[in-house]
Amino acid sequence: MSLISNNLQVVRADLIAAANAAGRLPEEISLMAVSKTFDEHAVLEAAASGQRIFGENYVQEAVDKIDRTRLLAPDLHLDWHFIGPIQSNKTKLIAENFAWVHSVDREKIAQRLSEQRPADAAPLNICIQVNISKEESKSGVMPEDCLSLAEFVVQLPHLALRGLMAVPRASDDVVEQRLAFRQLRQLQDQVQIALGNRARLDTLSMGMSGDMQAAIAEGSTMVRIGSNIFGKRTYATA
Ligand SMILES: *Cc1c(COP(=O)(O)O)cnc(C)c1O
Repeated sequence: MSLISNNLQVVRADLIAAANAAGRLPEEISLMAVSKTFDEHAVLEAAASGQRIFGENYVQEAVDKIDRTRLLAPDLHLDWHFIGPIQSNKTKLIAENFAWVHSVDREKIAQRLSEQRPADAAPLNICIQVNISKEESKSGVMPEDCLSLAEFVVQLPHLALRGLMAVPRASDDVVEQRLAFRQLRQLQDQVQIALGNRARLDTLSMGMSGDMQAAIAEGSTMVRIGSNIFGKRTYATA
């Protein structure tokens, strides 16, 4: 068995164990494989083990990888999710190549993604990225500005607001990890109440390799796992 498929089995087992420990159904929690810095062969290996949702951070790297994956496996349907910082000159490529974007944190980006979504495509699924730990260097809208951005996103015709996403301050302390995730879940509940039937927020995108269990305990519906599936990232692209 390949290393990636072996890792995937371990991560899936961990996900199920974390769901059980939280009294939740494992089927409520989707597993995104974050393939940034790994190539199309790594993606195809994961896909051969049944993985279908892939996350990418760098637009050009991702678009090249999506094209090469389609060339090698034309009949394979994968769900590509964009999770990286977004520059406005890259929104067209994102709108054309992805099914989901988890990192929307300002109106201008949302507006452009809606305008540039191809007419024949389904609405682009959106999570608003929240700077839940209020770190100066981090992307994401501040929690107090989240509702106003959500109000803006729901009235855009080619976007479907699905929920919130966060990358909390890194911590080895499970109590601290859970506190940040709980704050995101509570914010999502508040936004849902304020939006009423204008949106159905069914996605809480939280939890990475180092804090998946805490995120699942606090209600995550989509965990984004990179290094525990593909191994340590040894290079970075920009
Ligand atoms: C890289 C990345 C991940 C995956 O991180 P790991 O620690 O490797 O699991 C998840 N979410 C975002 C936004 C990322 O940039």
